[in-house]
Formats: sequence, C-alpha cells, structure tokens
Amino acid sequence: MTLVVDPASGEAFREVPGASVAEVDAAISRAASAFETWRAFAPGDRARLLRRFAAVVDAHLDELALLEVRNSGHTIGNARWEAGNVRDVLDYYAGAPERLTGRQIPVPGGLDVTFHEPLGVVGVIVPWNFPMPIAAWGFAPALAAGNTVVLKPAELTPLTALRLAELARDAGLPDGVFTVLPGEGAVVGERFVSHPAVRKICFTGSTEVGTRIAAGCAAQVKRLTLELGGKSANIVFADADLERAAATAPGAVFDNAGQDCCARSRILVQRQVYDRFLELLEPAVRAVRVEDPSRDTAEMGPLISAAQRDRVAGYLTGASIAFTGSCPDGPGFWHAPTVLLADSPADRHWREEIFGPVVSVLPFDDEADAVRLANDTEYGLSGSIWTRDVGRALRMARAVDAGNLSVNSHSSVRYWTPFGGMKRSGLGRELGPDALHSFTDVKNVFIATEE
Ligand code: NAD
Repeated sequence: MTLVVDPASGEAFREVPGASVAEVDAAISRAASAFETWRAFAPGDRARLLRRFAAVVDAHLDELALLEVRNSGHTIGNARWEAGNVRDVLDYYAGAPERLTGRQIPVPGGLDVTFHEPLGVVGVIVPWNFPMPIAAWGFAPALAAGNTVVLKPAELTPLTALRLAELARDAGLPDGVFTVLPGEGAVVGERFVSHPAVRKICFTGSTEVGTRIAAGCAAQVKRLTLELGGKSANIVFADADLERAAATAPGAVFDNAGQDCCARSRILVQRQVYDRFLELLEPAVRAVRVEDPSRDTAEMGPLISAAQRDRVAGYLTGASIAFTGSCPDGPGFWHAPTVLLADSPADRHWREEIFGPVVSVLPFDDEADAVRLANDTEYGLSGSIWTRDVGRALRMARAVDAGNLSVNSHSSVRYWTPFGGMKRSGLGRELGPDALHSFTDVKNVFIATEE
C-alpha cells in the first residue's frame, strides 16, 4: 500500500494498493492474449484508436495537470505541458501503424522482403520525476507497433498513470492492451523483468536500478531500452551571448526543482568571462519564483519527498556556496535554488547526479579543456554549448559525449526527434522513428520464384 503525499504540503491524501506478483502474472497473461488480437488489427484501426486515446487525453488536460501538481509538486505550467506531451506523443505515433513498412531487397532467384514484427508484451517502468511523459514515451510507440503494454509507475507518483489507463479504456482500447500496475519495484518491476512473456523492458530511472534490470534481461535475451541518470554540462564560451546564457541557465537546471535527467547541473565557463558570468547569474537565480506549484506564477515547486530534500541538502555540507535563491520554509519539501563553486572536478557535487536544485560552476581555459571536463563523467545524456562561432559549435557538438546536445539553447526533448543517453546514461533511443523500430523485431522472408 502506498500513501500518496502532496509534496507542497507534506500531507498524505490517497492510498494506492500495490499489485502482488499473482496480480502482475494475471495482468501479463491478459496482455499476452490481447496481443494476439491487437497485432491483427488493421493498421488503420489501431491508428484510429490511438488517435481517439489522444483526443480523450486532450479533453482531460486540466484534470491530469492538476492531479500531477498534487501528486508530484510540479508547477501547473509544467504539468500542463506534460499532459499535452502525452497527447502529442500519442498523436505522433498514431501516424505510425500504416507507415511501419519493411524493405524489399534485391536477391537472385526470388523475392526478399522484411517485416517489422511486434514483440509481444512490453513492460514499461517509470520513475517519479516525469510520470506522464515518460510513461507515454514507452507506451505510445509500443502500442502503435502492435505490442501490448503493462506499465509500472513509481511508488511515489502512481495517480496520473492510473488515470491514463482509465482514459485508454474510455477511448475504446481493448481489455488487456494497456494495463497500469502500481506497486513496488522489487515486486512489480522485478516480475516484469523475470516473466518470460514480457518480451521487452522499457526502463527509465537510476543507473543503479537500470544496471540490475539489464542483468535480468540478459538472462532471457529480453529486449531493453534504458534511460538513466545524467550530469550534463552547460558550456559557456567567452564569445557567447553572456546575458542570454546567464538568464537561461537557472531554468536549465532548476526546472522541475532539478529533478530532471537532462538538468544542466555543471556549468563550465571560459575563465576570462567567469566573474562576469557569475555576476549575471546571481540576479537570475535570486529571481526564480519558488512557491505553491498550483499558482500560475510558480517557476519551481517542492522536491518529491523529505528524503530527496535531505539527500540534496547533504551535498551542500563543506561545499563553497556562491549564492542561493529563496523558497518557502514549509510545510512541504522545499529547497532553495543553489549555486556551488567547484574547487576541482573531483568535488562530489561536481561528479554525482544530485537530482535537485543545485548547480556547480567551474572555469575552463580553452576548447580542449572544455571537452576534457565535459566528458570527465560516467554520464552522457545531454548538454548545452554557448558560442557565436559556428565552427566551434560544431566541433564541440561532435566532441562532447552526450546523446542530446543543444547550441545556444537548452532544449532536449521533442517527440519527433530521438532522445537517449551515451555511456552510463542509457541504451537505445526513445521518441522519433528510432523508438518505433525498437518495439519491433525485423523479420526477413525469402520467396523462391524459380520453377
Ligand atoms: P529508480 O531507479 O529508483 O526507480 C525507477 C523505477 O524503477 C520505479 O518505478 C521503481 O519502482 C522501479 N524499480 C526500482 N527497483 C526496481 C527493480 N529492482 N526492478 C524493477 N524495477 C525497479 O529511479 P527514480 O528515483 O524513480 O528516478 C530518478 C532517476 O531516474 C534519476 O537517476 C534520473 O536521472 C533518472 N531519469 C532518467 C531519465 C532519462 O530519460 N534518461 C528520465 C527521467 C529520470
């Protein structure tokens, strides 16, 4: 049983029972039976149902957003974007069933064709930091490709996923095609991994749990997508538009209270503009509005839990604090936006994913130094490069080891472009056409034409 807590007040407001192993097994059996029907749907019929699902989500955007504010402490502005993203991702992949075509390859003596076959039951495991979009990035392409889905939301944030399952039913998705099973990772999540009828795991979460899941999947040669942690660099060169780089840096790390795998939590500034950049950054950080997330003016809300707040606060012990913003005292799980000066790249706050509103700043000398420092991490998810020199922007974009880079911007996610990490930030790609194909196996068929 999970007690769902409102992070802004610290009060529990709902109880959600967790699924048992027997309930998970029953749901996987239903999903396996539903797969036989769902895969046989005419592509246009599958597309129509996904479009209807998107339309039903669209009709409930405000309700979903308010539920997410209560359950996750996200600002209402962010939560509206997240609910809209579920609709958009569904709409985008609703265009896929009729376009999921194979190839015809020239061979002697016959015809050679490929098919993209759905895998079967897909298990989607979601973290608490973006409960709606991350769920949709898994279930929408999986369903479009003809798979059925069992989905486990995080223990702390099950409510919007449960509501999405009801909306899927309202839209007419057949029973067993999309099932949400709340519960513990060690029970529900592990059963997804160990159950032989689940043919792929689509996991987003910590690198630690992801590594364990990868080992479990290896035992069954189960397909796997991993979206894991990050420690992304925001690299500011002396020739950049410093005002814009400084004005946007707080949003790039404090959005969602820093609980964002793409947070630009390491700022590297070229030494000759280091002091100037910090002067510009300070008022921007102090101006971040940290307040009741249900207010339209809120730019940052609370952290997800008391444990997460205390974990984040622990990184400040012994660190050089440059300046902080402000936040409510409580109740609720608040932490002020905080800027730390790294004494060296060995500092713990420079190396580890904090997953909170804390950013570390370090100077660098030249392009080679920036590349070395940016890549000196086990992670490789995203990053930003600020420069007016196009050649340098391209050189840096090729040299930095990260799956998603932006130049003079902090944008990371668009539902029609690929998203995912290098190194220990993940395996495979979500969103865009790449994700669709990752929910299929390619089958090659040769038909002899010689008599
Ligand atoms: P987590 O790894 O603790 O949990 C993620 C999910 O896995 C939860 O649903 C949890 O119940 C489940 N789980 C836990 N143990 C399991 C097990 N043994 N078997 C199967 N499932 C299990 O992560 P979290 O704390 O919920 O989320 C924060 C992490 O997620 C951060 O590291 C963050 O960087 C990462 N993240 C990555 C991305 C990305 O796209 N790369 C996006 C969002 C979050």
